[in-house]
Amino acid sequence: MHDLLICNGTVVTPAGVGKFDVFIDEGKITSLSSTTGNKAEASKTIDASGRIVIPGGIEPHAHIGGPRQPERSGALPVSKAALYGGTTTVIDFATQIPGHDLFHAVKEAEDRWEGNAFTNYAYHPIITHGADLDSIRQIPELVKNGIASFKIFTTSIRPPSPQMQNNHIDFGRLGEIMSQIEESGAILLVHSEDDEMVHYNYDRLKTTDEWDWWNMHRIHTNQSEDLSFRRVTRLAERTNCPIYFVHVSAKEGVNEIKRCRSLGLPIYGETLHNYICFTSDNYREDNGMKFHTYPSLKGDSDVDSLWAGLLDGTISTLATDLVSTTWEEKIKYKTVADVTGGHNGIETRVGIAYTEGVVNRNMSLERFVDITSTNAARLLGMYPQKGVLAPGSDADITIIDPQIDKMLSMDDLHLENYSIWEGWHIKGWPTTTVLGGETVVENGILMTDKPSGKFVERCISSEVTKSPAY
Ligand SMILES: [Zn+2]
Repeated sequence: MHDLLICNGTVVTPAGVGKFDVFIDEGKITSLSSTTGNKAEASKTIDASGRIVIPGGIEPHAHIGGPRQPERSGALPVSKAALYGGTTTVIDFATQIPGHDLFHAVKEAEDRWEGNAFTNYAYHPIITHGADLDSIRQIPELVKNGIASFKIFTTSIRPPSPQMQNNHIDFGRLGEIMSQIEESGAILLVHSEDDEMVHYNYDRLKTTDEWDWWNMHRIHTNQSEDLSFRRVTRLAERTNCPIYFVHVSAKEGVNEIKRCRSLGLPIYGETLHNYICFTSDNYREDNGMKFHTYPSLKGDSDVDSLWAGLLDGTISTLATDLVSTTWEEKIKYKTVADVTGGHNGIETRVGIAYTEGVVNRNMSLERFVDITSTNAARLLGMYPQKGVLAPGSDADITIIDPQIDKMLSMDDLHLENYSIWEGWHIKGWPTTTVLGGETVVENGILMTDKPSGKFVERCISSEVTKSPAY
């Protein structure tokens, strides 16, 4: 007698897509076998006829609210919405604050998540402005504790303000950080923009009185992404440090990643689902700042390039850059210097990727699974525990109903009081989610009130850190 059987579905596995029955015991996948129609014994059976069975989504980029960011939603509502949207693991950030070390940052993140996790979770420590050498040298010890990825910013993003912590890392420290990352087998996430250019653009647009939010792409420009990516990859090349560029937004970023990968460097890129569906023209709409996440939306040719990268393997992952706030908070600030960043799209990521990738652009189901789950697991050190439907892997599973064809409405969603996806035409949507063998969402209904997600210890394969494997 098995704990759970998911039968008759179209299952996406490393060996291809086929009709398999998935057997689950004690939270893990025990076997996959060709669907025979014979009734097997299981305490619970989900008939997935006509539906697509995939590994649970992995959100690699989410900023969860805590006591220091009370305007942002916390782990409990965000992870609950993630489950509805077919995401079973969320990676948050652990931001170093001035005067404290990286262990303190991790402790803060732990406090946010423990007892509040409807999904599994992990965090990337962010090494911040002026980090001392002692903090930077904590990287190997954190890696030994199962924290395999770290993040830095090459820009302070906005003009200095009392509300905004400056996370900008100078290139001197960056070289030191890269050496530590390389030696400990970790990966470095980089928010990469040219700080000087961004700040010059702020000065220039202030002078010309073009301070409204819809000018954001004229500050966080293609040129700035181009220059900064090249500077970072040059340093990475010298230190053999694996790099994961977060939220690639411009064709120049895609091109630089492609160039480095062709040279055999372990350089990876992530983009966001709002970056592949909207452009800077959307800023001009009423309350068009709702579309904004930093750096910025760009133009049509950038969207085309990001899609090409997702389809051909240059871009590895699709993320949200979650900062979940209310509508009032999202539209509160209206200038290029203070627009609220982030996107509350953790629930829409997998479904939008299915509609826009698989249905509208002929993306294979295997590639769709790579960008929404498997590659995040591989690059960030959770594979094959997560990100794959195979014997021995955790039973984190999402079932998509490809028959759903409708305009998305707020009644379909469970986080905050707005979504930039309201009214979007969806064809196919996640309806059932299994977390650690437990059916937590069934046909769109939440089946649990217990936040039973677990911290995921991570360790990255040298295949990922030595060459552009995925
Ligand atoms: Zn972010």
